[in-house]
Amino acid sequence: MITERDVISAIKMCMKELRKKKYELNLTPDATKKALRYLKVYNRTNGSSYGGFCLLKINLKCWQFGNKRWSEYKRFNNNKVIGAIDVTDDDDILLLLVAHEVSHFVQFSFRMQMPKYMAEKSYSDKGHGECFQTIYRYLRQNLVNPIIEAKAEYTRVAALTQLLADREIDIGMAFNIAKSKRVLADNV
Ligand SMILES: [Zn+2]
Repeated sequence: MITERDVISAIKMCMKELRKKKYELNLTPDATKKALRYLKVYNRTNGSSYGGFCLLKINLKCWQFGNKRWSEYKRFNNNKVIGAIDVTDDDDILLLLVAHEVSHFVQFSFRMQMPKYMAEKSYSDKGHGECFQTIYRYLRQNLVNPIIEAKAEYTRVAALTQLLADREIDIGMAFNIAKSKRVLADNV
């Protein structure tokens, strides 16, 4: 069950990432406070989440919760970094949802301190344009995707360990079987 506390910690994580010097967004710790001040968490079936100028609304009944794959807007859904991605659970979905809306929030709320090249992108953005995609890419590439991928990997290893335990197969033995099969395959 996702709560408002989970939303707050996801926002803090995203804002902390975006404050890093390398992104040149010039966000201060105050920017995080601002995000939390404007945050509204609500539960509305079919309601949408929204990030904009001094606006950050997260709907805990987002239709994507419960899905095993996050989808994005059509125009970049196929992109390897900022598009659709397989998820393990609703914590992953929340992180993606928050990263998406925080990107909008930053895109529209901090133009004044952005470097010129980003502010110009922001003014020409209708919504999911270049400024949004740049910020969202920072978050997806360096924070969100690595967490989701590591968790998926961990889950696969845990499932394998469980499978072996259930069948009382020693993990060393399993690796030896895999190895000998590989040797056989290589010799064919
Ligand atoms: Zn959006």
